[in-house]
Amino acid sequence: MKPPKLPLEGSCLCGSVHVSLTALPLLTLACHCRDCQKLCASAYSLTAMFPVDSFSVTGDLMRGGLRSEGREHYYCRSCLTFVYSRIAGADDRVNLRISVLDNAGALPPYVEVMTDEKQDWAEVAAAYSYSRFPESTEDLRGLMESYSKSWSAPVPPKD
Ligand SMILES: [Zn+2]
Ligand SMILES: [Zn+2]
Repeated sequence: MKPPKLPLEGSCLCGSVHVSLTALPLLTLACHCRDCQKLCASAYSLTAMFPVDSFSVTGDLMRGGLRSEGREHYYCRSCLTFVYSRIAGADDRVNLRISVLDNAGALPPYVEVMTDEKQDWAEVAAAYSYSRFPESTEDLRGLMESYSKSWSAPVPPKD
C-alpha cells in the first residue's frame, strides 16, 4: 500500500468541523457490530486509530451515542456527522471515522471485527478477520505492527 500524504485532512458533511492528522493511522478497521451499524446507519463502521497527539479538531462538536462512561462519541453539532470516538483505557489514541477524511479511499480497513454480527451480504476485503474482537492488547499491538509494515509491502502480510 502507498501511504497517503500527511497531514490528512477531513471534515463533516456541512464543513463546520475540520480534522487534521499529522501521522499515519496505527490501524484501520471495519466493525460489524450491531451498535456500529446503528451509530453509523450503515452495515459497519470504518475506523482509523491515530495517536492522540497527531490529531487536531476544530468546530462545534457534541457527544452522541449512549453517552456512557468510558465511550465518548463526537458528532458535528450542526449536521450530526459522526466524527470520532475516545475510549477509556486507550487514552493515547483517537478513533476517527474514516469517511470524514478527504481521501478516505486511501485507508481501506486492515482488520474486520465482530463478524458474528455482520450483515450476511456485507463483505470487507480486510487482511485479518475476527468473529469478535482481538483477544488481548498483545494481539492488537501485533496487528498495529504488521499494519505499519504494510505501507511498504506490495500485499498486506498474512499469518
Ligand atoms: Zn457538520
Ligand atoms: Zn462496533
